[in-house]
Amino acid sequence: MFASTIKHGARRCLSTDVSFSARILEGFRGSVGNTPLIRLPKLSEETGCNILVKAEYLNPGGSIKDRAALFLIQDALDKNIIKEGATIVEGTAGNTGIGLAHLCNALGFKCVIFMPNNQSKAKIDILRLLGAEVTTVPVVPITDPNNYNHHAKRYAEQRENTLWTNQFDNRANRRGHYLTTGPEIWTQTNGKVNAVVMSTGTGGTLAGVCMYLKEKNNKIRTVLADPPGSVLYNYIKSGKLERMGDASITEGIGQGRVTQNLKDAPIDESLFISDQKSVHMVFKLLYEEGFFVGASSGLNVAAAVELSQSMPKGSTIVTCICDNGQKYFNRLFSNDELSKRGLLDSVPEQYRKNLF
Ligand code: PMP
Repeated sequence: MFASTIKHGARRCLSTDVSFSARILEGFRGSVGNTPLIRLPKLSEETGCNILVKAEYLNPGGSIKDRAALFLIQDALDKNIIKEGATIVEGTAGNTGIGLAHLCNALGFKCVIFMPNNQSKAKIDILRLLGAEVTTVPVVPITDPNNYNHHAKRYAEQRENTLWTNQFDNRANRRGHYLTTGPEIWTQTNGKVNAVVMSTGTGGTLAGVCMYLKEKNNKIRTVLADPPGSVLYNYIKSGKLERMGDASITEGIGQGRVTQNLKDAPIDESLFISDQKSVHMVFKLLYEEGFFVGASSGLNVAAAVELSQSMPKGSTIVTCICDNGQKYFNRLFSNDELSKRGLLDSVPEQYRKNLF
């Protein structure tokens, strides 16, 4: 299944027809979004569908969350909620924090981050390098006052000119995707998109994209893909907030509640994707398609492939590559971590020697 030889046709992919935008982008803010939409040739051939991925790892801060970070801060600036020298504080699994920290540097703001202490070390290192003040806190549910989000909220309440961007419940997040990611997908596919599937953390990406695409064509299938440890698979299926499985190796996705960003989003159905499937897809993308991605992206593409089984041949299915794999050496690409979680079998044997 994992082809290692380069086929004759591969040469034809190396096009010299570089059609680039003549626009010069304005700083970090101007560089967010307008990411390429990439067809995965091997998976498309295997499934008989066009499997397309939005390359969100190419945002300037390296992840899908740059869009949310930009719209959360822009919204506050537009409403005059913050002024020069402001402090931005957020509770984040890391990627939103990285986007916010970059923006704070570009705008001359201070950045304060509260993170659960079960995330990849590299995200914390990057945040500190960017100059953000980072506090990691024990993992507790949102109902507990010591949840990382409550820390962020309290921090802002106690200080002047300090904004808690509140990515989970501030709908500026999904509005950003409604105004950018959704229209980009529509334009890049010439409106020929049959399904969208992706996992959610805040719900901002999926909700914003689905809201836009359903307005354009109500027949587009909109699907939420959920990792273990999350309640959203069951919520979409039956309306019940029942958790499926244990804590996942994926980071930044899965949820214990319905956030304001996800609420009332036009989502038709849900898929549960095991860590085995997500990890397997991470390595398939790495060694067959040539993409080095994080676990949420593995899950997303695994979900697109699963969805293709119930779509007519030739359908176009869109998902996201949310970030790249470089932040996950000590988890997703760690021999010890994968074997501790019983996930080593999801990595093809010949590649296990490459793990950290
Ligand atoms: N993938 C990764 C790696 C993320 O960090 C996040 C957000 N935490 C997501 C996916 C999900 O994005 P959203 O918050 O828009 O649902």
